[in-house]
Amino acid sequence: MRRCSQNRENAALITINAKKFVLAMGGIENSRLLLWLAKLYGNTLFDDFTPIGKYWMEHPHFTLGRAIVDRAMSDNNFYSLTAEAQINRQIFNCGFRLETQRFEGTKKIIRELMCVAPALGERMASLANKKLVCAVTFKAAWEQAPEISNQVSLSEARDRFGIPRVNLLWKKNELDRRTIVESVDAFNKLIMGNNLGRIQLDAWMLDDGEYPLNDELAGYHHMGGTRMSISSKYGVVDKNCKVFGSDNLYVAGSSIFTTGGHNNPTLPIVQFSLRLKDHLLSLM
Ligand SMILES: Cc1cc2nc3c(=O)[nH]c(=O)nc-3n(C[C@H](O)[C@H](O)[C@H](O)COP(=O)(O)OP(=O)(O)OC[C@H]3O[C@@H](n4cnc5c(N)ncnc54)[C@H](O)[C@@H]3O)c2cc1C
Repeated sequence: MRRCSQNRENAALITINAKKFVLAMGGIENSRLLLWLAKLYGNTLFDDFTPIGKYWMEHPHFTLGRAIVDRAMSDNNFYSLTAEAQINRQIFNCGFRLETQRFEGTKKIIRELMCVAPALGERMASLANKKLVCAVTFKAAWEQAPEISNQVSLSEARDRFGIPRVNLLWKKNELDRRTIVESVDAFNKLIMGNNLGRIQLDAWMLDDGEYPLNDELAGYHHMGGTRMSISSKYGVVDKNCKVFGSDNLYVAGSSIFTTGGHNNPTLPIVQFSLRLKDHLLSLM
């Protein structure tokens, strides 16, 4: 790649000369600039037949309900599936957060439990009085299946520099739903099997209803769009984060993720960036 300039009536023309360029503009902007460069320069700077902008991912975040759990569980309050459980159930990963409620919340759930399971309710009430169990809000953030139709694309609208803004198509598919349903089942079996508590799910989880619109929805974790692959058919950057078909254009950030895991993305972003730094230094 030789030029990184913008020829607009009202904008100054700036030419930047460098041996290597690294795009590190965030999980939407990396795709946006590549899509824009592909539109401006066709297939000349890099391979523009790669899935630029595609396989975009987030971490769905929702409150699933409430639970009464053993005090020790609520103190250690983050749980995720083992690799084995994910493989056995053919799902992606999921993390559960147990957020401890005030004591009034515990009493309310125990009252409700007493209506449906009086003996268990009595037992939980007695444990709660000894501070051995407590109520938690039961939340999850999970891994989304990489789906080609989830994508960043260029919009007709332009910003003040004349660069197209973006459209973002982000949906959750059947596998995303199965991941949360199966993960809850696994977690439920864990706490029921070990007599560690009881979960009370919200109606949309029980009835396979629509995802609630008044909840967290996602985690501000913008991933994919310039995913890494061994093949330009399935990815935009190679194993060294170099854009396929380019001599010297690299991408850093979570847009290179091929899958998203269920956890915060910034530490792997830093790890990949350090790896890219080592690679670039090795070329000098
Ligand atoms: C509210 C919130 C909470 C979050 N909490 C967490 C958390 O707890 N843990 C976690 O791991 N992650 C969290 N994230 C996500 C985290 O912020 C991102 O994963 C991380 O910042 C991505 O790093 P990045 O360097 O790839 O992109 P960014 O941090 O987005 O940096 C991109 C930079 O490029 C600049 N830029 C963009 N376009 C241009 C351009 N055309 N020219 C020049 N510069 C440009 C931007 O101004 C920005 O400074 C959170 C995000 C938000 C919004």
